[in-house]
Amino acid sequence: MSQLPRRDPRQEWIARNRLHPRHEEVLAALGQGATSEWPGPNGLVRKNPHRVGFIGPNGIKRIDRSGTQQGAGGGKASAPVAEHKPLTEIAEPAFLVAVVPDMAGGRLSGHDKDLLGLARRLADADPAAQGAVLAVVFGSHKETNLGEAGVDRLLHLDSPEIAGYAPEARLGALITVEQAWTPRHWLLPDSKLGGGELGRRLAARLGERPATGIWQVEADAESATGWQCTARGAAGSLDIRRPLPRIALALAECAEPVSETRHAAAELVLPQPLPSTLSRIQDLGQVSVDPASVALSEAEFILAAGNGVRDWDAYHRAASVLGATEGASRVAVDEGYMPRDRQVGATGTWVTARVYIAVGISGAIQHLQGIQPCEKVIAINMDPSCDMIKRADLAVIGDSTQILEALVTLVSQAREEKRDAA
Ligand SMILES: Cc1cc2nc3c(=O)[nH]c(=O)nc-3n(C[C@H](O)[C@H](O)[C@H](O)COP(=O)(O)OP(=O)(O)OC[C@H]3O[C@@H](n4cnc5c(N)ncnc54)[C@H](O)[C@@H]3O)c2cc1C
Repeated sequence: MSQLPRRDPRQEWIARNRLHPRHEEVLAALGQGATSEWPGPNGLVRKNPHRVGFIGPNGIKRIDRSGTQQGAGGGKASAPVAEHKPLTEIAEPAFLVAVVPDMAGGRLSGHDKDLLGLARRLADADPAAQGAVLAVVFGSHKETNLGEAGVDRLLHLDSPEIAGYAPEARLGALITVEQAWTPRHWLLPDSKLGGGELGRRLAARLGERPATGIWQVEADAESATGWQCTARGAAGSLDIRRPLPRIALALAECAEPVSETRHAAAELVLPQPLPSTLSRIQDLGQVSVDPASVALSEAEFILAAGNGVRDWDAYHRAASVLGATEGASRVAVDEGYMPRDRQVGATGTWVTARVYIAVGISGAIQHLQGIQPCEKVIAINMDPSCDMIKRADLAVIGDSTQILEALVTLVSQAREEKRDAA
């Protein structure tokens, strides 16, 4: 019999026709039933746009545009998918890839997750010599499942001398890790307030030349290390390609975060005590700043207002009570409610806040471009079908004035209760 693949045009027509009564049955027969992507006959990946997304708890279809798709199709309320991911346990790794995430606010940032994704690629590249990803986490944290982010081994160091800003003590701890396990790679986020400094200190102490500002890593059999990296150089004006060195400081989006697998995150203990370093740096704690004076591009928490804000006094009061930096859509600026330097978006400022609350903003493409890197977006809007709600991680449907007032009342009450309890 001929080995040529046979095609059935009628089956294919039914597969394309979502309203046909046999649509689901034919999709299942073609192996496209439960998935949103599958390889087509010519090798190209085919996507079914109707299967992208998941049905939210209120029965409305949600498409996660934040890059962290939470579930796929099926037409039923989505269940947490974590337990369905295969658990990968590496009993005796051939080598370690050490990652030192920033864990700003006690949680993995998007940048940290990208770095763990890169570490996974380096650890899993050679099935004959399987490596493991070791996360070195300083201070207390709130992450309950680091294995989901790709961590095989976890070294959690939480002694008082490494709390806060303590680069010398933390460097001492990393040197102890180096002596104990000598990781094949050291990966740190090239961030201003964390890994950027610690990584450079580590490289200087070990006398090794690091690569900084890495945004791409590719396998390269010709390279001495088997990997080639591309890094930003000359104040971001040119790209430098070189073999990936042992100590690498990478930028956000250097790799895809881990999403398909679950790892053990087994706790490790240092075989030797941490060295007692005589610290020349004293951390006097954070200095409180007026959020209104923070530049939008540097703000961590933004309360942005759009054309859906009806009571501007209530909005300014909410920003002040929440301690948020104020931002605005172009319409709010054009109408004269907000100054021009507060405009967020393609023709305003591109923001990188960890939390961005959009009050009465519809989510025009020019606005969404400006908030792309924001970690958590919360939308307050009357229209459940608007694009800002589709982009948001959390949405509150209702009138902006009422919701802002309720928020202010709740925050004030919580603060009073905390003060009374103290
Ligand atoms: C070349 C160009 C560049 C642009 N650059 C930018 C830019 O950099 N930044 C930018 O923001 N825009 C920019 N725009 C404008 C952009 O296209 C949109 O017009 C603008 O973002 C819309 O602002 P908005 O969402 O505040 O207003 P609208 O689109 O009017 O949306 C108002 C929203 O508020 C909601 N709403 C109404 N009443 C209430 C209520 N009581 N409570 C809660 N919600 C309510 C509505 O449901 C709606 O979703 C640009 C446009 C062009 C052409």
